[in-house]
Parts: sequence; C-alpha cells; structure tokens
Amino acid sequence: MSPSALPKPRPKRPSNLTPEAAESEPFWRRKRLAEMTKAEWESLCDGCGKCCLLKLEDEDTGEVSYTDVACKLLDMETCRCTHYLNRKRYVPDCIKLTPKLVDRLRWMPSTCAYRLLSEGKDLAWWHPLVSGDPETVHRAGVSVRGRAVPESEAGELEDRIVEWPE
Ligand code: SF4
Ligand code: SF4
Repeated sequence: MSPSALPKPRPKRPSNLTPEAAESEPFWRRKRLAEMTKAEWESLCDGCGKCCLLKLEDEDTGEVSYTDVACKLLDMETCRCTHYLNRKRYVPDCIKLTPKLVDRLRWMPSTCAYRLLSEGKDLAWWHPLVSGDPETVHRAGVSVRGRAVPESEAGELEDRIVEWPE
C-alpha cells in the first residue's frame, strides 16, 4: 500500500475506554472531519483569525508567505469575520474550508483546529470548545489580536511579511 493510500488517522483516544465512555467523548475525538454536522464543523474554528491574514504566493515556487495585514472583513478585536455568511459577496476569493481542502492547504497554521484534527492530534487547552471560554485563544497569544493591521494602513504587502502565524 502506498503512503497516499493509507487510511486517514483518527484523533487519538485512550484505547481502554468502554463503549459507553467512548460515546461520551467530545465529538471532535469521536468523528472524522467529514462525519461532523455543519454546527460541529463550524464550532471547530477557534477564532484565531490567522487564516484571515493576507498572504503572498511566490509565482515560481508556490511558497505562501503570511503578512500581518488583516482581511478587510476581519474584526480585529474578536478576530472573527464580520460578514461570515455573505463574505463571498465582499471577498470573492475567500476559501470555503472543507475536510478535503484542510489536507491540501499546507499554509493553514499548525494551531488551526481543522489541521490539528486532520493530522490526528487533539485540540489544545485554549481552544474555546475545551476551555468553554472564547477568550482563551487570545489570552494564550494564539490569535491575531493586537498583532495585525488593517489593509487601509498597511502600505506595500511585500513589506508586511511575518513569520509568526506558525
Ligand atoms: S486558522 Fe483555523 S481555527 Fe484559526 S480562524 Fe482560521 S479556520 Fe479558524
Ligand atoms: S472574508 Fe471573512 S472569513 Fe474570509 S478571509 Fe476575510 S475575514 Fe476571513
């Protein structure tokens, strides 16, 4: 079997759980991304806002670099999209994330919940689904709050390339 044909890893789960205990595990440990309901899928976004930073792609190598410039629809305080449901009307090239795309978009940050689960990892303590508090992603320094600038103040994008959306 070639590596590309290997089954996708499931999130790690203690193997000594009874069926009842396993069923009581949170949905992101029980289900693959493709099995989640729309509400579960949407709730996975931790609100870090990193993927909403503008990016530059090298035409020759395809390498993607992040800038610290926020998309015009990003609320810099909440780090959430201000027109999420209608965002394509204002930002046509905004990507609609899907389980298949998560694997292909290698520029998604390593802290992103979709990427973590796709790689078989668990959510971190600061994820709002774990902590029960939407502020923990900001307190842990994971979000773009206080670190991004609006497009209107940014100047040349090439001068705004940053390394921190790890
Ligand atoms: S990087 Fe992932 S978790 Fe963070 S805002 Fe984007 S989709 Fe949500
Ligand atoms: S349109 Fe909304 S979801 Fe898309 S990049 Fe901008 S702020 Fe993020």
